[in-house]
Amino acid sequence: MKYLPILLMLFALSCNSQSETPQATTAVEEQLHSVHGQKPSAVERYYLAHKNDSLPSKSLGTVSNGSIENATLLPFRGENYRYFDTASYLGGRAFMNNRVAATLEMSYDSLAKLNPDRNYCYMECSNQHGGKLFPHHTHQNGLSVDFMSPMISNNAACYDLDELGAGHYFIDFDDRGTYEDNPEISIDFNQIALHLLILQSAAQKNGLLIEKVIFKMELRDELYASPYGPELRKSGIYITRNLTPLINGLHDDHYHVDFRLK
Ligand SMILES: [Zn+2]
Repeated sequence: MKYLPILLMLFALSCNSQSETPQATTAVEEQLHSVHGQKPSAVERYYLAHKNDSLPSKSLGTVSNGSIENATLLPFRGENYRYFDTASYLGGRAFMNNRVAATLEMSYDSLAKLNPDRNYCYMECSNQHGGKLFPHHTHQNGLSVDFMSPMISNNAACYDLDELGAGHYFIDFDDRGTYEDNPEISIDFNQIALHLLILQSAAQKNGLLIEKVIFKMELRDELYASPYGPELRKSGIYITRNLTPLINGLHDDHYHVDFRLK
């Protein structure tokens, strides 16, 4: 947690909300009002004003030096998933290539069928036009997505850590995946392995491949030792093996996936 104060401060500074035109907001509010007859929330208004689901996206350059045209959004909340932080969503940090969005939606549909009682969170993606997404090194061209590590406590799904917002990035786990502030909570490695396998299959159906997964190196053995681990090992999905201590230490509460266009 030694980097927490500095990173949190910088992260908060980087989450400036983008302005919407009054006309766009009014049209969106009318659309939403006609859908459920209630005042739309800020994230619903933001989604409808920015989802851009009619034009194909163009990811340019690389995940670490790139940009994106016609980026799209996933809804803030779906049937079994949601974005992890309202300020980050409204700050324009959840944009992605439309093929990535289709892949994520397909993966959450598959998870809903396999685990109907389970909920999932996705985390930061890219800016609307890509480029640097501080403090991430990648996330520049709409092909990178962070996923919150699902948690387990007493053999049941645990959502106690889901409401931390940006602070979730800085919680720590030991090298067996146990949460350092509460040893009853640990990472559900089997859910991560399953999700990665489902993402690989969904990515292929949407013209993508998984380029690489970033996950804390000391936890890879636990991932492979989970029930879906052997299948994950055979899948060919590359999980990085050479990370700096800072990057390594930050990738336990979440796993990062870079996609590649086929
Ligand atoms: Zn990431």
